[in-house]
Amino acid sequence: MFALVDCNNFYVSCERAFQGKLRSVPVVVLSNNDGCIISRSQEAKALGIRMGEPYFKVKPLLEQHGVRVFSSNYALYGDMSRRVMYYLSSVVPDIELYSIDEAFLDLRGMERYCGNLVDYAANIKQEVYRRTHIPTCIGIGPTKTLAKLANRITKKNPELGAFFASIPQKNASGPWSRLPWKMCGALGSSMLLKCTRPASRPRPRWPGAPSRGCVST
Ligand SMILES: [Mg+2]
Repeated sequence: MFALVDCNNFYVSCERAFQGKLRSVPVVVLSNNDGCIISRSQEAKALGIRMGEPYFKVKPLLEQHGVRVFSSNYALYGDMSRRVMYYLSSVVPDIELYSIDEAFLDLRGMERYCGNLVDYAANIKQEVYRRTHIPTCIGIGPTKTLAKLANRITKKNPELGAFFASIPQKNASGPWSRLPWKMCGALGSSMLLKCTRPASRPRPRWPGAPSRGCVST
């Protein structure tokens, strides 16, 4: 089993970690030389501010809604990333750093020591927040691809805490049904199909699934 831990709105969360008064107001972080938006709080997203939007273009909107704007501070983000990753590396035997704010945790064989892995992951999430004030989403799956998908589901359903993704079924209900399947393309649709489709089953027909070029397994 693998878990993908992903820090939410990472650069904004780093700024908020040291300024409690920012927690309930819209916040954005700008790229080098204040060129464009590279991180947004949930409140800023709700205002319709998009990722990568040029700062000069949205400046009037930001001012109108009192959005707090920060130039990027990569020394701070690197330091906060190290704090999060250092803690994560202390709770599992192996981790793979995936980006500045994401890591795969290797949970293989951990049930014997930690019990239910979803509960264990929910505890990790709480502890990361307690130590660093960085909110995270955690998805668990039998492969890294499914852990990534599970992570996407927890992002859309924060009440889940952590989520375990088993093999998705055609016409699945619950969180699976709300998954934007175009995301599968970003992961590599052939890779996903390889994970999810036994050779003897008919080709899956979920919306957006490629009609040809499926991997036979
Ligand atoms: Mg992230």
